[in-house]
Amino acid sequence: MRYPQIPLAAILLAACVQGGPESSKDERADNDSAVLHNIDLGSATFTENRSEGLSFDIPEGVTSFMVIVDGAPGAFYRVASLESPTGTQHIDPEDPSKSLNRSRWSTIAGGVAHLLPNSDDPMVTAEAGRWSIEIDSWQGDGTHPPHEAQVRVLTKSDESESGRLRLYLHYSGAFGIASATASSEREIQKSLEIVRSIFAAADIEVEVVDPASDDSPLTVTSLDGLGDLSKLATQHDGINVFFIEQFGGEIPFQAEGISSGLPGVPYTAGTTSASVTVSLGEGFRPPLQLKRGELVGHSLAHELGHFLGLRHTMEANGFSEDPISDTGASNRQNLMFTQTGGNEISAGQRRVLLANPLILPAD
Ligand SMILES: [Zn+2]
Repeated sequence: MRYPQIPLAAILLAACVQGGPESSKDERADNDSAVLHNIDLGSATFTENRSEGLSFDIPEGVTSFMVIVDGAPGAFYRVASLESPTGTQHIDPEDPSKSLNRSRWSTIAGGVAHLLPNSDDPMVTAEAGRWSIEIDSWQGDGTHPPHEAQVRVLTKSDESESGRLRLYLHYSGAFGIASATASSEREIQKSLEIVRSIFAAADIEVEVVDPASDDSPLTVTSLDGLGDLSKLATQHDGINVFFIEQFGGEIPFQAEGISSGLPGVPYTAGTTSASVTVSLGEGFRPPLQLKRGELVGHSLAHELGHFLGLRHTMEANGFSEDPISDTGASNRQNLMFTQTGGNEISAGQRRVLLANPLILPAD
């Protein structure tokens, strides 16, 4: 999430909203391919708010993996323990937010994903052998009833230093821009050019697809509403992006965009954590028209960074830096600066992007 200039209290309000939408079970793509392989761990059961231990075997040649939890509606999750075959604890179970490969709670209730590596720490590698994990859960209503969540691990075996990413753009008719007209909308095309050039500098080619969509301008007023929007996405093999009219309600209307996960859940349509939403309102409403395409392009690229696993270089609270050594906490030129920033992606951030299973080898 990124805001131009808003008080911390408003950010916390948006980040800590409770409750969750009804979850419809997802349609999952068959991930198995030349570089991706799915390991199904079955159900995790929880006592109080932590699961029993689960284990899985990472074969030789895997370069990164993602733990994906598909849980109960209204419940939030995080990976709370992640121990390597040689006994390195990559997530401190006492404080999962401070560790080698630190984890975080779901942005939106219903599920979570955790990428390894999510930093440029050379100690964090997807070494072959048996890994073990535990998962935390809490209900949005504050209770901790025993429940189950489905857990899988998506591995990636790809040493290449470049890749491609597919975006599915849903316009919703906001500001008169619909699927049928987007290709001739100059400011939209300008914003997509900015996205392409930002990722091209990190050797990632962005491919854009405009599926025909049901165009009705939207205002999203809560994280639950974002989850409901995310569930409308039908495309598996890329990031679904919704352009809406504006944010409102419990989400500050100045918010430029929100990723439904950090990282988002890949290769899964119909769940709460599988999309990026960008407001056209801030860029397209007079008197800000002059910078509209540029602003929307940067906002979209920034949210895609979150969806692929990048944190802010420094959170707005001024205390929490990202786990990447070469970004520079106060570098306004970095794509992941917390306020409207620049377009730089550092070498450390590129390592995380290339680790994500949504970045596939270029053809
Ligand atoms: Zn952000």
